[in-house]
Amino acid sequence: MTAKVPSTTALQTDTLRVEDLRVYYHTPRGAVRAVDGVSFDLKPHERIGFVGESGSGKTTIAMALIRLIKPPGKIESGRVLLGETDILALSEEQMRQLRLADIALVAQGAMNSLNPVRRVREQIVDALADHGARIPRQELDARIGELLRRVGLNPEVARMYPHELSGGMKQRVVIAIAISLRPRVIIADEPTSALDVVVQRQIMETLREVQDDLGASVILIGHDMGLMAQFVTQLGVMYAGKLVELCSVNDMFDEPLHPYAQLLIGSLPSLERKGDLEGIPGVPPSLLDRPSGCPFRTRCPHAFDQCATEEPAFREVRPDHWVACHLY
Ligand code: SF4
Repeated sequence: MTAKVPSTTALQTDTLRVEDLRVYYHTPRGAVRAVDGVSFDLKPHERIGFVGESGSGKTTIAMALIRLIKPPGKIESGRVLLGETDILALSEEQMRQLRLADIALVAQGAMNSLNPVRRVREQIVDALADHGARIPRQELDARIGELLRRVGLNPEVARMYPHELSGGMKQRVVIAIAISLRPRVIIADEPTSALDVVVQRQIMETLREVQDDLGASVILIGHDMGLMAQFVTQLGVMYAGKLVELCSVNDMFDEPLHPYAQLLIGSLPSLERKGDLEGIPGVPPSLLDRPSGCPFRTRCPHAFDQCATEEPAFREVRPDHWVACHLY
């Protein structure tokens, strides 16, 4: 599923290929390396999840993939290939056209950023117009009704204002806007935070149905391992701006290899391993002044001499199972 070294075949078959992505935030004290050399592939129809503690870089990946990193943040290097288009090389205008049409983001807290004084219909029309979609007026209402139906809402919702909707309904509207131009890739950053558990499951089910319907691939950013286990097919663990393990969700839960992933999985509360990530003793290293060697070494129960001097490479240690650790 993933590979650090591009191959011609992969370029032709992957929906999205991320190569050595680096995103730094430039501060007066130096560069904060929020994402520091992340690579992964996303296949057609695949659902990949990224978990990690806050500040691990997962949201920055989402924002970088859709080119919404704002100063002092900067995408320093890397390639993000959508099919054969490197989206990091596109102009702002080309990127604006690509958003929603090819790659869409359901941003963290997006349901709270719906415009309170515009009806749902107008907000969907605005999104379509912003991205250059020309839909004849007579088709527009049918199209909006169909979109709302697709995310499990009554088409009547089009006439409502955000304050008339529940949190779950608002999030469905956000998903409707995200899929309005049938993107190939949907990035969902904590799409169910602030919603109750029942609504969370419904929203994830809706996202899955929408994905099937569009034939899209999904990147899910989150911290709820239970949701991840139920939704994604591949799971990546982030630590200090780096991807430290990536494999099928089953392998990750059955036999995590990286010591950090082992501690994460081992700390989950129930037999079914549901629940949020729990804390692990110690703190992540400063992203401003990263120490030498493995970024996890100050918290790792298995650290040895090499870990202090040499940073472990992210390698495929078993088929489709990637890890950055000197133990393997
Ligand atoms: Fe632990 Fe060393 Fe592996 Fe890092 S490289 S996770 S310190 S064993």
